[in-house]
Parts: sequence; structure tokens; C-alpha cells
Amino acid sequence: MKVDHFEQQKLLDLAAEDVALSQLAHRRRTLPEAAAVETAEQSERDLSADVVRAETEVRDLTREVKRLESDVDTVRQRAARDQQRMDSGSATPKEITGLQHELESLARRQADLEDQQLELMERLEAAESTLATAQQGLVGAREGRERATQLRDDALADIADGTQRHESARTAVAGGISAPLLTLYDRIRTQTGGTGAAMLRARACQGCRIELNGRELAAVRNADPHEVVRCENCGRILVRTAESGL
Ligand SMILES: [Zn+2]
Repeated sequence: MKVDHFEQQKLLDLAAEDVALSQLAHRRRTLPEAAAVETAEQSERDLSADVVRAETEVRDLTREVKRLESDVDTVRQRAARDQQRMDSGSATPKEITGLQHELESLARRQADLEDQQLELMERLEAAESTLATAQQGLVGAREGRERATQLRDDALADIADGTQRHESARTAVAGGISAPLLTLYDRIRTQTGGTGAAMLRARACQGCRIELNGRELAAVRNADPHEVVRCENCGRILVRTAESGL
């Protein structure tokens, strides 16, 4: 294939746009800001679970405290009734002995329940403090996730911007290249997964970085300037310039 030497040079601009575009695509795929969002979301989920756990604990303990309070009340009422009966003066001596025993046993029961209540109140206090810490942590995690999302969206918008710019630049460059050469370039680009042409600089293909051997170099040197020559190693179109070292 023969294409005007000057037109072949345009392939380098095209390749530069393709490099820029694939760098942008790579950046989009490996965006650290996106990973940061995932980390922030995980931490928000973890803290949210902590809050639910702590809320359940507080609810259970509160219910338990109430149950104990009601038990203590029952014991108090029973003791008050017994005391009233004793004080009424109408109880028989036998009844009084029975009431005294019951009052003693009720007093023990009440003391026992109050001890339990105290212990439970301490546990409830600790659970409430854990809950407050978890809630605070969750607020922080939410803010962190919102910040991370904003940063990621900004980075994605940046990439979209750059991609659009380089795509229109590529279209403009491609417009100055004849169809057969462009088709060949695009075919090679698909094969290499990057670019379809590279500069021959200082006797090395800048696509695969391999230096041409003597025979290859002689072939390129002797080729017509308008002949489309290719790297034997990577298959890219070799664009000759003043820096080629021929
Ligand atoms: Zn090469």
C-alpha cells in the first residue's frame, strides 16, 4: 500500500489520541475514588449494623428493667398490705407470726430484685453509651460516603470530559486520513489492543520498543517514502520521521 508520506505522519496524531483514550478508559476502570466509595459504603453498612445491634440491646434491657420495676412494685404492695393487716389490730397472734415471716421474706425478695435492677441499670447505661457511639460513627460514615461519592463523581466527570475532547480530536485527525489507511490502522489497533501505528525512532519501533535488525532496517531504508511499512514484530505501521535514524 502506498500513501502519501505526509498523510502517514497523521497516524502518529491518531495513535496519540488512541493512547490518551485508552489511558482515560483505564483510569475509569481503576479509579481509586471508586474504590474509596466502596470502602465508605462498607463502613456505613458495618456501622448501621452496629446501631441496629445496640438498639436491640437497649430495647431488651429497657424491657427487662420495666419488668423488674413491676416485680418490685408487686412485692412492695404485698408488704404494705401485710403491714396494714398487722397494724389493724384485728389479726390473731398466729396470723401475726405468719405475716411477720412473710414480711421478712418479702424484704429479702425486694432487696434481691433491687440488686438485679441496679445491675441491669448499669448494663443499660453501658448499652446506651455504645448506641450513642455507634450512632455518632454512623453519622460520620454517612458524611464520609457522601464526600467519597462526590469525589468519585467529580473524577468521572473529568474523565468523561477528557474522553469527549479526545474523541472529537481523533475524529478530526481521522478525517484527514484516507479510508484504506484508516481501515488498516484500525484493524491493527484492534489486534494490538492499543494503537495501529508507531514512530520509528532511533531505529526502534516505538510501539513495541524493539530495535529493528539490520535486514529490517535496510528494507525500511530502501522502501519508497510513500510505501506503508510495518513493524515485523508487533505489526504496527511504522511511521518514518527525521528521528528514525535511517
Ligand atoms: Zn513494533
